Amino acid sequence: MESQIYYIALLSVIDNRLEDMLEDYGDLPEQIKKIELRLNERKAIAEETNTILNEIKQFVKQAKITLVELKDKEDKLAQQQFKVRNNKEFDAITNEIAHIKAEHEKLYDRLRTEGVKQENLMNILEGQEKDIEIVQKELDDKYEEAKRLSGDQNEELTLLQNKRLQTIEMIKNKFMVDYNRIRTIHKDAAVIIKKNSCSGCFSTVPAQIIVEVRNHPNHTFYCENCGRILLPDDIVVEDF
Ligand SMILES: [Zn+2]
Repeated sequence: MESQIYYIALLSVIDNRLEDMLEDYGDLPEQIKKIELRLNERKAIAEETNTILNEIKQFVKQAKITLVELKDKEDKLAQQQFKVRNNKEFDAITNEIAHIKAEHEKLYDRLRTEGVKQENLMNILEGQEKDIEIVQKELDDKYEEAKRLSGDQNEELTLLQNKRLQTIEMIKNKFMVDYNRIRTIHKDAAVIIKKNSCSGCFSTVPAQIIVEVRNHPNHTFYCENCGRILLPDDIVVEDF
């Protein structure tokens, strides 16, 4: 698997070609870009819901184990209580049992609250996933329209679109949201650092950032002037 910045670079090559192809189709490319941004934003929201949901599931799983353990402990203590030698020992165990019972009750309550939360979140996620489907359909329709318009260039457009879908799959959604947001402002959202400058706006990139870009290919760094994603100068993307 290649780095995030590799796939972002690849995506920008694909998008530049797509952009050239769609150039003559009025505001269709603009519409596509906006829908893509919307799609990524929706996906990012669903991803967030999923993360919270997984945390809750993890908690529920652990809590169930802990509840059993507490009950075991309580049973063992109850048995010990028969074997005490004096009142002091008896009281100590009684206190300990009360403490465990309180802990059990507290955890049980929390488990119930989290269960309700989990159910609510699952419903929310379902709605969010339906939203994604709707926007995805909207996007597919726009591409169909582009294909109809492109006539004999149709095959290349399909190839680029498929390649684009494969590439997006490899890029984290948070980067995609950034990428698509930048693309609503600049035609090229990701650009190479050439001669220590951003090749989008030609302003100088600080030496520190150039080093960071080179050393952290799974992070994104941005031009301080124009906001484009910066790509290392030695990046080479596959030919397709
Ligand atoms: Zn720039």
